[in-house]
Amino acid sequence: MTTLDCAAARGMLLACAEKIIESKPLLTEIDSRIGDGDHGIGMAVGMQKAKDRLEKMEACSNVYELFQEMGKTMLMSMGGASGVIFGTMFLGGTKGKEPLPALGCRDFAGLMADSLEAVRTRGKASAGDKTMVDALEPAVRAMETYGGDDFVEMLSLAETAAAEGVEATKNLIAKFGRAKSLMERALGFQDAGATSVWIIFGAMRAYLAAMS
Ligand code: ADP
Ligand code: MG
Repeated sequence: MTTLDCAAARGMLLACAEKIIESKPLLTEIDSRIGDGDHGIGMAVGMQKAKDRLEKMEACSNVYELFQEMGKTMLMSMGGASGVIFGTMFLGGTKGKEPLPALGCRDFAGLMADSLEAVRTRGKASAGDKTMVDALEPAVRAMETYGGDDFVEMLSLAETAAAEGVEATKNLIAKFGRAKSLMERALGFQDAGATSVWIIFGAMRAYLAAMS
């Protein structure tokens, strides 16, 4: 699969929403070890609203608009740090992009790279702070480095890089949220938001793999 048109993008984003909703108990469990335990709940609420919104949207001719609507809906419907952060992960990169009826691998990698920058600007977290940036940044770098034109191949690399990022958060001391006050007691536990990023890239890869 070398192009992501509106129908494929919509299906892919719906698959992300469904997978996160399905993972609500897992994300809640992970967040309750070192956070306040609401990550799965918040993500599931935002993703359910985003799913409803995408399902109701008229046929669109600009792929970026789907990402924009997904992010906006999450931003508006979720509270806490993750509403802003995960809303921005979908919305942030679309700013200033000329409408496109289909994206190639380069366009998609560029979109996610700009989203990562937007997340970093909004949340002020860098790699190593034990947040979702620790999964998103390596995933984006893997896509930027990928030289081919196959979405499934590129997303597989992103998924693997995100998984490694999640694993790495176990050895980090948090700079944000409740985990911050736990200091080294949070060592050994993975970050919930990073786990969501990994689930999202996995859902994207699985959806497109099943389509092609
Ligand atoms: P809250 O922290 O408000 O309870 P959630 O539990 O839903 O929100 O989400 C927590 C996740 O959000 C963390 O695991 C982390 O990955 C991510 N996060 C929190 N603050 C930031 C930030 N400033 N930048 C990037 N990600 C963040
Ligand atoms: Mg929380």
